Amino acid sequence: MLLLTPGPTPVPEEIRMAMSEPTIHHRTPEFEEIFAKTRVLLKELFNMPEVLMLASTGTGAMEATVLNLCKSKALTINAGKFGERFGKICESYGKDYTELKYAWDTPANVEEIIDTIKKDEKIDAIFIQVCESAGGLRHPVEEIAKKLKEIRPNIMVIADGITAVGVEKVDSTYIDALISGSQKALMLPPGLALIGLSQSAIKVIEEGGVGYYLNLKTELKQQQKNTTAYTAATTLIIGLKAMLEKLHVEGFDKLYNDTKKRSLATKKALKEIGLNIFPKSPADAMSAVYDKEAARIRTILKTKYNVNIAGGQDHVKTTLFRINHMGLVANYETAWTLNAIEMVLEEIGRRPYDGTANAIFTKEITK
Ligand SMILES: *Cc1c(COP(=O)(O)O)cnc(C)c1O
Repeated sequence: MLLLTPGPTPVPEEIRMAMSEPTIHHRTPEFEEIFAKTRVLLKELFNMPEVLMLASTGTGAMEATVLNLCKSKALTINAGKFGERFGKICESYGKDYTELKYAWDTPANVEEIIDTIKKDEKIDAIFIQVCESAGGLRHPVEEIAKKLKEIRPNIMVIADGITAVGVEKVDSTYIDALISGSQKALMLPPGLALIGLSQSAIKVIEEGGVGYYLNLKTELKQQQKNTTAYTAATTLIIGLKAMLEKLHVEGFDKLYNDTKKRSLATKKALKEIGLNIFPKSPADAMSAVYDKEAARIRTILKTKYNVNIAGGQDHVKTTLFRINHMGLVANYETAWTLNAIEMVLEEIGRRPYDGTANAIFTKEITK
């Protein structure tokens, strides 16, 4: 079965091989060297002065930033499941927060955010997705971050880049914490979370440090010495190093360019066969299609064409499907998926099959 969901993504064979070596102890010079090399590559990927690795899924990193980077009040941006999660984390700790809510296809409004901040002295941190995976939506995070820093220089900008880091070059100039996870663009098994940090974030963490397992002050101190506070996720870190080294050969920019090209070609092909791209500002990470028969299309794709793409959640559970572009997806995989979708459209009586989707995709991708 072709796995083309926006997380988890398939793990390339050579990375699976790298992770199949016998277990090594985490408190050894051997592992510290692996850890050190991984840190160097991660800092380049994030383009930030510090990066932490946590043995948790992405949500653990989200929780850690809420705990460690917001002292008085949070502003959370909810345009989908993952934005909603930041609010729920605040709530679970009894942390004061304001939420700005948007429809799942609508990016955050920069002016509204600025106004909210101006009116509320207490807000010292904003939490937002770079790409809100629920609808494949790209928020204008860089613009928001820049404008916020102009009016409140000390505000912490926390960006959940789980479906953006390794997908596109996120401009981290005004971002204080950029979150990623292993099972999306980095094509690893789930279980490792990453947080890129700015100098200001490092300062806030060093002066504070909240929580026990998710205490970033404790982690920062250890990881700067190339070790971890608790047992490191050794196998995943070995895999991460292998993956970053693999990507580094041709450069991260090549990965971003390939992903963007594949994403744009897919969206063009989907539109050409009469389908509707859901978000008003689509992200490169995935193509989300809004269709009354999305669930039916997905079922036929799975049972007849061996393609597994994702559906939606909540109110768009049966009316959305999402095709992954993150990671090293081969062009023939996306071409086959698009071709299969076009076949399904004929089967459900939408339009006669004429090979348009595949033709458009192939033409665009080989330009
Ligand atoms: C997948 C994802 C997460 C994290 O989910 P986990 O299941 O905890 O790894 C967070 N934010 C976004 C935008 C995601 O796509």
